[in-house]
Amino acid sequence: MGKASTSWGSHRRIDVGTVTRQYYCTACESVRPFNSKKQLNCLVAGPDLVSIDVVLKCVDCTNTVENWFLLKCADDLFGQAPSVSLVYCNEHLGSSANALGPNDTVMQDLLDRADLGRRVGLAAGSIIYLRKHFEITTHTAATGVGVPLLTEKDKRRSFADILREVDQKIQIIPEEFSQDGYRLFSELSTVIHGNADEMVALGKFDALRRLVVGVFENVRNRAEFTQATNDLGWVSKGEL
Ligand SMILES: [Zn+2]
Repeated sequence: MGKASTSWGSHRRIDVGTVTRQYYCTACESVRPFNSKKQLNCLVAGPDLVSIDVVLKCVDCTNTVENWFLLKCADDLFGQAPSVSLVYCNEHLGSSANALGPNDTVMQDLLDRADLGRRVGLAAGSIIYLRKHFEITTHTAATGVGVPLLTEKDKRRSFADILREVDQKIQIIPEEFSQDGYRLFSELSTVIHGNADEMVALGKFDALRRLVVGVFENVRNRAEFTQATNDLGWVSKGEL
């Protein structure tokens, strides 16, 4: 942010590099990167909060979308390399673009936050959203197939136990990760608890993201398949 501190409500120009997000451009009728300018305006919202409005333009035409990010700083906001995490992200696409990926807005939002964290080099900050995504998917699947989320004494079961039981019932971990799906999961936890080297953690981001998205797609396909068979009047197997 620069050396001198700035009071709340003030604007600062910052150079954070280009923000890039992929959208389906309605003019180009294809998926295109949408880029911001290098210099962005940010609004100091409090001692540790920064609000950034960004306009992103399609690389091949004049279509634009607006993104708004709210970032929280864990240390000195005005230091040389502040450690920030994403609190909130919102987007206005209008008729220029459509969002990609799963239609479920909540899940997409978690992935967007993870991707944003990855782009700005925050390992724990990005992987915490992957972990959240993974938990929601697994808990949803567990509920669907009757795997309990609580112990008999009404305590929360460990996530690893729930995942293992759901996977044994309906195999939600993609084949690519069949050997090391659980290991990758434990790595998600290690990174979040700050016990992993940031650079090593960032190097694992892509594999972890593939695992999380793969599990989500398996569960969603399963749900769609069962819904379809129910619609056809087939006997439900009692799964999802
Ligand atoms: Zn375009």
